[in-house]
Amino acid sequence: MVWFKKTSKPIAAAAKIKASRVPEGLWAKCLGCSQLIYHKDLAANLNVCPKCAYHFRIGAADRLRMLFDDEAWVERDKDLASTDPLRFTDTKPYKDRLIASKAATGLKDALIVGAGRVDGIPTIIAAMEYAFIGGSMGVVVGEKIARAIERAIDVRCPVVIVCCSGGARMMEGALSLMQMAKVCGALARLDRERLPYIAVLTDPTTGGVTASFAMLGDLNIAEPKALIGFAGPRVIEQTIRQKLPDGFQRSEFLLEKGMIDMVIDRRELKATIAGALRFMGARHKPQSPSAPTDGAELGTAPATLRDQDAPRVP
Ligand SMILES: [Zn+2]
Repeated sequence: MVWFKKTSKPIAAAAKIKASRVPEGLWAKCLGCSQLIYHKDLAANLNVCPKCAYHFRIGAADRLRMLFDDEAWVERDKDLASTDPLRFTDTKPYKDRLIASKAATGLKDALIVGAGRVDGIPTIIAAMEYAFIGGSMGVVVGEKIARAIERAIDVRCPVVIVCCSGGARMMEGALSLMQMAKVCGALARLDRERLPYIAVLTDPTTGGVTASFAMLGDLNIAEPKALIGFAGPRVIEQTIRQKLPDGFQRSEFLLEKGMIDMVIDRRELKATIAGALRFMGARHKPQSPSAPTDGAELGTAPATLRDQDAPRVP
């Protein structure tokens, strides 16, 4: 028996909304101050809101373009791709996730390694791509970073890693956790060679990435208001059953507590990195006519910290 019966007709659908004449993607709404920003202005400002300095997330390629001189670099180990070693399936097969992420980003995995110059200093930079399965660190990410560090040791140049990651890639299980040790081992060798390493922590840097190379820089630089932590705030709150303080796990909070060294506006980032590298003994090498820089050319670069007059850390 039916207790209630709809006697009146269903409400008519609202009249079709007139299509906007503003082309898609011309304006962006700031997540900080809710103002509309012309997309070109935002791009010219390195994706930082000109009104409130909110830092939008940017991709790995934009990151490298922003840091390297003349937006030029040579990509390394471009073709490394995951083989799905565990044949892992959660809500959908890992293989399908890889295919979808490759199509969406045009990358083979969540990291781009580039060799080029930062303010004239030959440098190798690895930048993580959040759009590729949350910037998670699997075997490929670990291997590419380890190779980048080894290459830096060979050509005697500094390393910068721009972190942006949800942590280790659970679809590769323990193999992804092993990357933490592998990258840390490579960084220890870089340290013994007295070559500088700068970690740049962007929003978000969490999990196994924070627990390994993100916190191992000779200098750990964060972008303003970036989420940086190991476990997420909700998990911690539920575990310790306490309210967390305001700004918990944000750059400024971590700077105050001594977890990181600097909080730097993205527009100042390149100059800060170049200044720090110079302070740590990296040398400017006059631009050769065969730009853009490639590994072979970096190989002929004069030794940086091996120079007799370079500052030595006791
Ligand atoms: Zn804003």
